[in-house]
Amino acid sequence: MASEKLLAEVTKQYDDTYKKRTPKSRVAIEMAREYMPGGETRRATFFWPYPIWLERADGCRLTDLDGNEYIDFHNCYTTMVLGHAHPRVVEAVRQQIVKGTAHAALMPIVIRWAGLICQRIESVDKIRFTNSGTEAVMMAIRAARGFTGKDKIIKTELGYHGSYDPIVYPSDAAGLSQGEIADSITVPYNDKEAAERAIVENKAQLAAMIVEGMMGSAGQVPPKEDYLSFLREVTAANNVLLILDEVQTFRLDYRGGMQHIFGIKPDLTTLGKTIGGGFPVGAFGGRGDIMNLFSPEVNKVYHSGTLNANPMTATAGVATLEQLTSEEIARINKLGESLATGISQVFAKLNIKGQMTGWGSLRNLHFSPVPVVDGKTAHKANKDISHLLHLALMERGIFSSERGLFNTSTPMTGREIDTAIKAVDDSLNEMLPYIKQIWPELIGMPVSV
Ligand code: PMP
Repeated sequence: MASEKLLAEVTKQYDDTYKKRTPKSRVAIEMAREYMPGGETRRATFFWPYPIWLERADGCRLTDLDGNEYIDFHNCYTTMVLGHAHPRVVEAVRQQIVKGTAHAALMPIVIRWAGLICQRIESVDKIRFTNSGTEAVMMAIRAARGFTGKDKIIKTELGYHGSYDPIVYPSDAAGLSQGEIADSITVPYNDKEAAERAIVENKAQLAAMIVEGMMGSAGQVPPKEDYLSFLREVTAANNVLLILDEVQTFRLDYRGGMQHIFGIKPDLTTLGKTIGGGFPVGAFGGRGDIMNLFSPEVNKVYHSGTLNANPMTATAGVATLEQLTSEEIARINKLGESLATGISQVFAKLNIKGQMTGWGSLRNLHFSPVPVVDGKTAHKANKDISHLLHLALMERGIFSSERGLFNTSTPMTGREIDTAIKAVDDSLNEMLPYIKQIWPELIGMPVSV
């Protein structure tokens, strides 16, 4: 049978099994379609044939509308580092909510929140809060432009920093400002020469280079050993600011994500996800001389936002950061390592060219005959097979993302990791006859990253 026909047949079989198990989610998205385009309000959470809808989430477990339970290795794209409804976070939020949830004046909890972050991250002298990582990135770029008086920025190919026009991926989507896009220069991640060339050639117009501590949405692609320190040196030598996007990677290290792991000091850092304990959040911070441009006394760069440093987010953020001790970070990083090792062993045992990329608690599964080292190689990894595995894993009670993101959270122990490894093993065993026929290029010893 031609492989395309077989793929269509197998996909239909997996989709049908999924539909049988999730009829209430199907009804929910149909009802939602009446009011929201596609029944969704966030592109990243959609997958075919339709996503599950949830009844509740508790610890590392999700329950969908049909009562199916899943161990959550998705954690809202790495946000829920303590799992869901952590008792300390719930209690703190309960106490805060009766004091009001939004005011045109700050509450002292914000000082504790800002202090916790500034004390942990050496490069962050001062910080400002937003309601999303996207906004944090917009403001960091504005800060860089305001400080340097230059407009252009460098970003990495297929990197992800949110929805702001000059850095959004996909950059060929309709509706983006071509003027904004013209102000950004793209270089491959992990390519030192390309970055140096672009920085040197454009330094007269270049405000900043923005780079993720590890490529997150592209598929947890870590920086090569000296990549980040090289960028630090070259940007500084050419009077260009370095913005390190640690929206995802902050959770990897108690002293502030990849910048501490690799010993670099960016000029500005963007944060989000974990620091808000599951409430809408973003933050940007860094050198005092740059951040002070936002101070009302200086009033040089503009930043506002009705719900910035909202007390609910601040409260959940503080409760989360307090639980996120260096011991817990080390423990979930180890769990992430065990997961990656276990799944890599499954690939080797089954002779499938799969790879687990990532670092510590942040991991990604790829099917690729070539090592995944940058945006392009991550993007080329096989998506159809990932779709099947995603549904096969859900059938076995494991929730990850369709592109293969797995991240660990503090309610997890070795038991959940073993369950996930076994589920990958069983799913791939079931899929192996199809893989051999449809994707023969993926049969063979896994390539090491
Ligand atoms: N930067 C990075 C590295 C991210 O991963 C994301 C979101 N996935 C963002 C920025 C944007 O954050 P938000 O979705 O909160 O706007």
